[in-house]
Amino acid sequence: MRFVAKQPKEGINVSDTHPLIEASALVAGLTAIFVVIALLLIFLIEVTLYFVSAEDEADMFADWLPVDLVTVSHTDERLLETQLLVDRLAGHWPETSYKFRVEIDDSEQANAMALPGGLIIVTQGLLDQVESENELAFVLGHELGHFKNRDHLRALGRGVALSVFFAVVTGNDVAGIGIKAADVTLRGFSRQQETKADDFGLAMVYAEYGHVNEAWRLFERWDVVDNSFIDLVTYLSTHPETADRIEDMRAHAQREGWNTDGEVTPLRW
Ligand SMILES: [Zn+2]
Repeated sequence: MRFVAKQPKEGINVSDTHPLIEASALVAGLTAIFVVIALLLIFLIEVTLYFVSAEDEADMFADWLPVDLVTVSHTDERLLETQLLVDRLAGHWPETSYKFRVEIDDSEQANAMALPGGLIIVTQGLLDQVESENELAFVLGHELGHFKNRDHLRALGRGVALSVFFAVVTGNDVAGIGIKAADVTLRGFSRQQETKADDFGLAMVYAEYGHVNEAWRLFERWDVVDNSFIDLVTYLSTHPETADRIEDMRAHAQREGWNTDGEVTPLRW
C-alpha cells in the first residue's frame, strides 16, 4: 500500500477557545501559583523563626552591621542619648533576649529600622525632626515592638522573596500580575504587624512616662505636610494612612485607660 501524505487541516494549531479566555486562564493560573509561593514562603519563615530563637539570633548577630551603613561618630551626643533611651525603654521589657544596639545612619530621610540581633538604626533625619523625648521614645518603642514580634526577620525574608520573584520574571507582563498579587498578599501581613508594633511602642512610652502625651505628635505634624514614617516593615505594607494610624493609637490608649495628658520630657541635646 502506498502512503499518501495528507495536508493537515486548516487551523490545526488554533484552539477553539477564544484567545481572551485563554489569556485570562493563564493570568489566573499564574496569579494563583505566585500567591501560593508567597504563602509558602511566609510559612517557611515562620518555621525558621520557630527553630531559631530570639536568643540564638541575638548571639549570631551580636556584632553585625550592614556593610553599606554609614554611621556617625561613636562619640556623637545624639547617639549616646538615643542608646540610653533605648536601654531605659528596654528596661520595661525585662524578658527580652536581645541586647539592643543603636546606630545612627547618616541619611536625611526620617527613618528607623529593626535589624537582626537587636540592632536599631535611626537616621539623622529622624533625630532632626523629633521635638521631644516622648516622640523619639515612641519611635524606638515601635521598633522594640518589631523585635518583640520578630517582624524584622519576617520583613527581611519577604523582601528577599519579592526581589527573587522580580528578578526571575522581569519584563513578563503576565507574570507581573501574579507578582502583584503575591506582593499584596505579603503586604497585608505587614499592615497588622505595624499596628501591633504601634501598640507595643505606646505601652513602652506609658511604662516610661506614666502617660502617652505627645507620643504620636510627630505623626500629626507629618500628616499635615504629607510626610510619612517609613521603616523596613512599613515599607513593605500598603501605604498606612498616617491619619488612620493616629486614630488607632488614640483608640488603643483610650481602651487601655492610658492618660493622654502629662508632662512632656525635652530632648537631652
Ligand atoms: Zn514599623
